[in-house]
Amino acid sequence: MPEPGPGELLIRVDAATTCGTDVKVYRRGGHPTMLALPSPFGHEVTGTVVRAAAGSFHTEGDAVVVANSASCGKCQPCRHKRENLCRNLIYLNGAFADYLLLPEAVAKRSVHPRPAGLAPVVAAMAEPLACAVHCLERCLGAWSGPPTEARTLVIGCGPLGLMLIDLFHSMRTHVRGLDPHRHRLEAARSFGAAETHLGRAGDGSGPAAEDPFDFAIDATGTPAGWDHAVRSLAPGGVAALFGGCRPGTELVIDAERVHYQEQTLLGVYHHRPSSFRAAIDRLCSAPERYGALVERELPLDRLTEALDLMTGRHALKVAIRPHRG
Ligand SMILES: [Zn+2]
Ligand SMILES: [Zn+2]
Repeated sequence: MPEPGPGELLIRVDAATTCGTDVKVYRRGGHPTMLALPSPFGHEVTGTVVRAAAGSFHTEGDAVVVANSASCGKCQPCRHKRENLCRNLIYLNGAFADYLLLPEAVAKRSVHPRPAGLAPVVAAMAEPLACAVHCLERCLGAWSGPPTEARTLVIGCGPLGLMLIDLFHSMRTHVRGLDPHRHRLEAARSFGAAETHLGRAGDGSGPAAEDPFDFAIDATGTPAGWDHAVRSLAPGGVAALFGGCRPGTELVIDAERVHYQEQTLLGVYHHRPSSFRAAIDRLCSAPERYGALVERELPLDRLTEALDLMTGRHALKVAIRPHRG
């Protein structure tokens, strides 16, 4: 077991959830910003402090939820409260392990208390939900009307699409979910989608001109999904390009529509400390709904099986529970 150095923290991993990013890392062999292989991976994590170096803000036995990055707090984006764009952002990986050593910056800025009563498998999802919270905040900031008058399209109803549906529904926007898998559309309804559409972005059915959306969010990370989002916009609408496409991807946009209809195309990436705290609160307010996303719990030595379940879309999320006996 590693011994924490000055400012560092050692946690026992109580639960680490799998996500699409892990599947990308596993299949593509890396990630454009988060990590280069060979590297430990897994980034959605909650645990218990087992060793705290002197001077740490945390003590042994504290239950914590850890954000997977730490900003510097000093650069221009940090000073503007856009910590997700920090020029010195460091990422934390390696949650698929028995223990996780938190570097000083993470220990100092990215460790949040896990509320009593919040189950570890639910708490571990604070990270992806924080990304969805960040998306909601970006969209609301870019749209002038009341959310209750907005129509929202969420393209892709995987775990993040479902989280986005929940958040946009919680603002009382009218939400439609689009996905090619029937069971995911059922989940979309349980997360608050008022309507669902069985289909895939770019499958030819396409957005209808008479049926535009005020918010259109891509949660597929494909060029077809981005294109579908932009083409679905009403005048004054906001497209949130939330799913990350492969490096080098280019998109063709209809400049006339974007200009004359004042459409907003938002890049949305990662999360901020404020969105992370909001995500923990949201998990506490709907633990059963979010708990349903975790369809399997497996021990650490069955990690590849967990990733295969994700790849085959047999599970929305899998929780790795290293110390569950
Ligand atoms: Zn993730
Ligand atoms: Zn910074």
